[in-house]
Amino acid sequence: MRKRVTILGSTGSIGRNALDVVRRHADQFEVVGLAAFSNVKLLAEQIQEFRPRLAAIGDERQARALQVHGSDTRIVSGPSGIEEIAAMSADVALCAIVGAAGLQPILRIIESGGRLALANKEPMVMAGALITERAKTSGAEIIPVDSEHSAIWQCLHGNDRRNVYRIYLTASGGPFYGKSREQLESVTPEQAARHPTWDMGKKISVDSATLMNKGLEVIEAMWLFDLPPDRIQVIIHPQSVVHGLVEFTDGSILAHLGPTDMRFPIEYALSWPERASSALGRLDLTVLKQLTFAPPDFGNFPCLQFALEAARRGGTAPTILNAANEVAVSAFCHHQIPFLAISEVVRFALDTCPVSDQVTLANVLESDRLAREVAQRKIKELGV
Ligand code: NAD
Ligand code: MG
Repeated sequence: MRKRVTILGSTGSIGRNALDVVRRHADQFEVVGLAAFSNVKLLAEQIQEFRPRLAAIGDERQARALQVHGSDTRIVSGPSGIEEIAAMSADVALCAIVGAAGLQPILRIIESGGRLALANKEPMVMAGALITERAKTSGAEIIPVDSEHSAIWQCLHGNDRRNVYRIYLTASGGPFYGKSREQLESVTPEQAARHPTWDMGKKISVDSATLMNKGLEVIEAMWLFDLPPDRIQVIIHPQSVVHGLVEFTDGSILAHLGPTDMRFPIEYALSWPERASSALGRLDLTVLKQLTFAPPDFGNFPCLQFALEAARRGGTAPTILNAANEVAVSAFCHHQIPFLAISEVVRFALDTCPVSDQVTLANVLESDRLAREVAQRKIKELGV
């Protein structure tokens, strides 16, 4: 029996990598549902190749353009169409949507009590308490896809969680690490997109450049592994070979190493509890000249500090952080604000928006809405 897989965000960087994993293991996986926002051409090609039962295009204006000849795939559209994919019966649902847009689909997947392979970290940041609580109630499993979290999860297998002293999330540092503040003033979105070790979507590339990505990952890890923020350490590791480490109470540290290729954690999340029988590639340890580790530079990359602060504050503080960041990153990508203004927008939202201690869906949505509004106000003020 092949595993039935749904992929939400199939036209993105993670989505395309996931489909490549499926393509290589066609005897093990069957795609039953695909969802994407607006890339009609690519989605049509994916439908043609993988023949899912159902496919959704988020942008309703594009629905008519999505004609796939000779296919039995039923096409749905809009946010409700995306949710229909989320609600499908499947063995594993991969959520690779970018940003807060993944929240409702994730809640739908969780509600079904199935298995969620989670790449889309922003909903976990904005509503981790809610998602994990609902997963507990429904019995849904959340399998990490983010490479650091997959690494840590693998290091935790077979170990008593009570013996975990702390975990380490490694960070390459992104394309701008080591640059001075003066140099950072003039960096462009195009430069931010050129990540030194990973090839990713636009938003996460900018988040990696500000180190906000690592901050979001700390919050994601808190919920995935049920750890307080002070037990999660960020460490700069420019080679991106060691993806995550777990330090136990006795001082032993287990590390996970692997090629710098997102198909590895995706494949593991889809295959779990099995492992694939043939590798996508292998790490040659003899060619690794050095593996280095250093503490992060909080001065030039304040977003990481802000994320840690929001993590410690709890409630909807991470929701505010995430929403302001999404708006600021989009403004930077549209050349409306300079790079260094991203952290100013986030700071302003954290200082301005009230935090709710109850992480209910209504409070999350309200904090998200208000933070976006406040962030837009700040962007107008800072804009070029
Ligand atoms: P991307 O921008 O390349 O792709 C995003 C996908 O989401 C696209 O298919 C797009 O159509 C879809 N989408 C966007 N808005 C949508 C909406 N409103 N409704 C439905 N679908 C929508 O992004 P990505 O780099 O693949 O990242 C996806 C998620 O995975 C992000 O949360 C990111 O942080 C996380 N992640 C990515 C990587 C990576 O290597 N790219 C690694 C770890 C985690
Ligand atoms: Mg990561």
